[in-house]
Amino acid sequence: MMTMKDWLKQIIPPVGNRATFDDVNPATLEVIATLPKHTAKDAEAAVVAAERCFHTWSETTAQQRAELLNKWGDKLVEHKEKLAEIMVLEQGKPLAEARAEVDYSLSFIRWFAAEGVRAEGRVIPSPKPELRLMTRKMPLGVVAVITPWNFPAAMITRKMAPALAAGCTVVAKPAEDTPLTALALVHLAKEAGIPADALHILTGDAKEIGPVLTGHPHIRGLSFTGSTPTGKRLLVECAATVKKCGMELGGNAPFIICEDADIDKAVSGLLAARFRNAGQACNAPNRILVHEKHIKRAMEILKEKVPGVRAGNGMDAASNIGPLINKPARDKYLAMLDDAKAKGASIVASGGSPEGTGHFAPAVLLSHVSTEMRVWKEEIFAPILGLVPFATDEQAIDLANATEAGLAAYLYTPSIPRAWKFAEHLETGMLGINASLISQACAPFGGVKCSGLGREGSHEGLDEFMETQYLAWGV
Ligand code: NAP
Repeated sequence: MMTMKDWLKQIIPPVGNRATFDDVNPATLEVIATLPKHTAKDAEAAVVAAERCFHTWSETTAQQRAELLNKWGDKLVEHKEKLAEIMVLEQGKPLAEARAEVDYSLSFIRWFAAEGVRAEGRVIPSPKPELRLMTRKMPLGVVAVITPWNFPAAMITRKMAPALAAGCTVVAKPAEDTPLTALALVHLAKEAGIPADALHILTGDAKEIGPVLTGHPHIRGLSFTGSTPTGKRLLVECAATVKKCGMELGGNAPFIICEDADIDKAVSGLLAARFRNAGQACNAPNRILVHEKHIKRAMEILKEKVPGVRAGNGMDAASNIGPLINKPARDKYLAMLDDAKAKGASIVASGGSPEGTGHFAPAVLLSHVSTEMRVWKEEIFAPILGLVPFATDEQAIDLANATEAGLAAYLYTPSIPRAWKFAEHLETGMLGINASLISQACAPFGGVKCSGLGREGSHEGLDEFMETQYLAWGV
């Protein structure tokens, strides 16, 4: 059986005479691989090849594409362990989380294999006797995909699987910190029989590759997941060629524990979601709003639990969280803690963290968090947790909505009328009610306000890669 390291040798593309960059393990700071910095010229060549392939790929039947997608899915099952290990090496998350992410990535491939064959048009009752009206769905064409480092497998398949199912071809740029997972996934897609030119991966500098992906007139759509500032910039760049844009951007999720909540259940949901991926998730609970009646008990439970959240190398089964992705991420974590302390917060509990190299950041519980602090106003993206009390539901709703973000929110209450009231007033694309791990391939993932445009997963996720053509038939 081939080891992960031998497999990587087949996956890493030739460097040629290009400049290179290193993919670095955030836990050990060792170089895992040296990869080509693709140029704008490489990006243009990829678009031309993807466009040529689009003409044949889009003419295959939806059933043929579904079959190939399912073969791709089978390859993920076969290579699950190696994929998970690559993810731990370059992203840092614990192996158990990486395995779960391979399963999650697979769920998008399976879902869209099944959904592509249901891309139906409709017959519309005609108001005129001499006309028959109908619609058909057609693929966008070549689409660009740009993905972040925090879920390096799932963010790729959540976009590539619907694009391929719809009949599109793809030119993708994964994050510079995690290119190997994307390369491995596309390697498997090709082994499964998906045409080589249907999926292209460009590695390297966003400033060099990005303008081709946002400006090329033959790219008809951009599906982006990443930060809100980058998304805003890419939207502007795409305006010149009027691309269809799917934008999955940053969050700042409120997690609201109501007066009538089961506090133990709520805190256990909070812990599961807050520290997953070391807090580096767009839908991680960020602003924790706790009814004043529960604050004391919630802090007691957290003071007991947070010291047990151990940071460490993701390959070590004892690690609950891995390192942060890179030095700027750790610097931001430290700066946020300094800001909170300067404004009156204190660290009241802290998890373990290894000495020495690696961008490790211990899980931290803060007391006296206020709405003036960076940890409240910004997406934290690190394992920091603090609670803010509220007195009334109206106050909780106002505090929750006081942000430009609107990706996810969480609510703990046994009351159906109260849950409805929050659902109707919270400005959010997704709401977990007595649930904190909510992402599913069959459900629409996405935000409102500055958290994005469009939805991924679900039936809506396929529509992002299709256009509706209207046909009016004279009879
Ligand atoms: P980021 O800095 O915006 O980068 C995301 C991707 O965009 C990377 O591939 C990056 O490439 C690329 N990029 C950056 N500048 C670009 C430019 N000018 N032109 C073209 N591409 C460019 O975000 P990140 O730090 O990697 O990811 C974390 C963010 O993603 C968080 O805000 C998180 O909330 C968000 N996110 C959202 C979702 C969602 O579904 N809503 C899911 C996951 C993450 P380089 O790596 O080469 O810079």
